[in-house]
Amino acid sequence: MTADSSGPKALRRVKRKNYFVCAAILAGGVVVQGVVSDDIGSAFLLVQLGWSVGFVVLGLMVGAGWIAVKSSGFGSGLVSLVGVTALIHLTGGPYSPFFPLLIGLPLALAMFTPDTRTPTIVITGGMLGAVVMLDGMAGMPLRRMLLQVSGFGVLGGVAIVGSQTYQRMRGAERSAQQERLEALERLAESERLRMRAERERTEVERLVMVGQLAAGVAHEVNNPLAFVKSNLCFIEDELKRESTTQDRAELYDVLAETQQGVLRIQQIVSDLRRFSREGDESGEQGRPEDAMHEAKRLASVRLRGLGEASLDIAPGLPAVRLGQRHLVQVLLNLLLNAVDAVETAVPARRALIWVRAQTVDGKVQLEVEDNGPGIPPDVLPKLFEPFFTTKPPGKGTGLGLALCREYVSRAGGTLHAENRPEGGARFVLVLPAVPKPASAAA
Ligand code: ADP
Repeated sequence: MTADSSGPKALRRVKRKNYFVCAAILAGGVVVQGVVSDDIGSAFLLVQLGWSVGFVVLGLMVGAGWIAVKSSGFGSGLVSLVGVTALIHLTGGPYSPFFPLLIGLPLALAMFTPDTRTPTIVITGGMLGAVVMLDGMAGMPLRRMLLQVSGFGVLGGVAIVGSQTYQRMRGAERSAQQERLEALERLAESERLRMRAERERTEVERLVMVGQLAAGVAHEVNNPLAFVKSNLCFIEDELKRESTTQDRAELYDVLAETQQGVLRIQQIVSDLRRFSREGDESGEQGRPEDAMHEAKRLASVRLRGLGEASLDIAPGLPAVRLGQRHLVQVLLNLLLNAVDAVETAVPARRALIWVRAQTVDGKVQLEVEDNGPGIPPDVLPKLFEPFFTTKPPGKGTGLGLALCREYVSRAGGTLHAENRPEGGARFVLVLPAVPKPASAAA
């Protein structure tokens, strides 16, 4: 809808058309009355034509914007009042067949000027004045005149009340519309807030995990750093000495080892940076194999000295419908939970975590198993509830598994937990695979 078709201009055009139609009807009336009655005088015809011309002029003025739409309603009432009174006067005063037209004026006006009551009130007053005038000129007895005026007055009152009611109804409709718009606005705002809270929740959980890894990172980086440092000293000493071929070979070995150490540090730092980075990844795909390696590398920072995680990846795994970052986050969460669980096991044991991936019925199934104490039966139903945790304050938020399940189900997958018959917990993650493009499949 353009501003032109709904704005004040359009309203003026509608009003102008109304006036022209009314003028045409009045002019048509002259013809009809000429056919119906053959003793119509020229004065009568002139009045009716004048009335019709009055409407044409009003239509033109409203269309051109010379008078306001509201005032034009008032003008049309006046033109009609004068026209009707003159017609009645010319055709027998109070005994004219057109006399009842007078009472129709306020009613018609109430209908055509719904936005304002003033024209209806003024024309009702004018109509009563015209009745008194016509009755007086015809010498009507006072009692009869009063009866007529009161009868017309009651109907005029009805027209005023009618126009008032209509106005109120329009007002109520407008405010209902306004309220509806405001409610929609509030709904949109709360949806925006909900999405922001969700993003923040994800970030909090991610940062909590980064925090859990932080202490391990220091160790993990320190270790290669220590040997990189001593290797560099060794290389420096060696370079100062006269070197034999064997020395040179040893030097290359040390250099290679140093490079490995630097790469290891770089890998840890870049994994952690990538993981802790903020970002939205809706609609992306994940590569399970890469995600498993990345999650394992990140978890190794926490696993250090406590045990080991082993990967068993079926060859040719397809991509899945869960974004890479979320996939890493889910796997890392499962791995860290497994380490935490094994740490609480009695008697203490070395943590063994198995991560498997295979294609089952066209979907990718990932499993994370541990040799921890397993999940107590009373905990199992609450595992995926937000804020459910059995960990001490400061260690667990209870958001990890809830978020994991949310990501996974949003991607059309499932995540459930069970206990392994041989002890320990197993988490099974099933994700829809992304179909390979036809060329790649061939
Ligand atoms: P958090 O780790 O902050 O407690 P999670 O939603 O990740 O939150 O985990 C909820 C709870 O599920 C944990 O507190 C723990 O009781 C239980 N849980 C998760 N993983 C394991 C597991 N591998 N073995 C036993 N219990 C587990």
